Amino acid sequence: MEDVQNLHTHTKYDDGADTPEEIILTAVQKGFTSIGFSGHSYMHYAPEHSMSEEGTEEYKKDIQLLKQKYQNKIEIFCGLEFDMYSEIDLTGYDYLIGAVHYLLCGDKFVGFDRSAEVVKGVIDDYFAGSGIEYAKAYYKALSELPRYGDFDIIGHFDLITKHADNIKFFDETSREYKNAAIEAAEALSGKIPFFEVNTGAIARGYRKKPYPSAFLLKELKRLGFGAVIASDCHDRNMLDCGFAEAVNLLKNSGFKERYILTKQGFVPLSL
Ligand SMILES: [Zn+2]
Ligand SMILES: [Zn+2]
Repeated sequence: MEDVQNLHTHTKYDDGADTPEEIILTAVQKGFTSIGFSGHSYMHYAPEHSMSEEGTEEYKKDIQLLKQKYQNKIEIFCGLEFDMYSEIDLTGYDYLIGAVHYLLCGDKFVGFDRSAEVVKGVIDDYFAGSGIEYAKAYYKALSELPRYGDFDIIGHFDLITKHADNIKFFDETSREYKNAAIEAAEALSGKIPFFEVNTGAIARGYRKKPYPSAFLLKELKRLGFGAVIASDCHDRNMLDCGFAEAVNLLKNSGFKERYILTKQGFVPLSL
């Protein structure tokens, strides 16, 4: 694959294992022409999973310095993975990934990007044991993303299917589920231009296939979204995990191109 790029990368500034420089060196070694960092936006409701407020400033400075240091080797972009309820300044980034990892249930921020056991507890405690109600609440929240900022990329569109290979919290093939997902895609269409084929859950052993699932890929194509390929990297050894499979999935869903970020903005590349 030419012009390999990954815009979804976590570091020690949030919950990743590596420093930005370690990731850059790995990217250069693997033949990447560019790399983007997407630290988790500061979440007052989950500081242990995000960059701190001070850390965010250091992160920005660190990436700027690394851009200079490696300018002849690789192009570097400073982005952010914004969680919908983060209350932070969104200026000063090269690109923004918008994502939902928490549901606001009453006055509680409930994290569900967790183990299957935790998800089961969330469904029992907040959705009276109904997996489909949980799924519908997620897609309703996701469809509200554009209210919170001007995002470039929708992060892991169907994140709630993380455990679907092992446990059925809801029926992914049901009309009710599909409608909820499609309604979110329709609400986001024209407001956020790109979605990611996210291979992160493969890298971490949760799933065999990337997000989003096949039926959603077709809907996203129909609605005119552009695709980027990203690994949601938390470990530099997995920087390009599943990329070949992501290309095949896009082709099989009718996509002719994927997008990469350049200094001139996002540009399409043939698959
Ligand atoms: Zn995420
Ligand atoms: Zn991420």
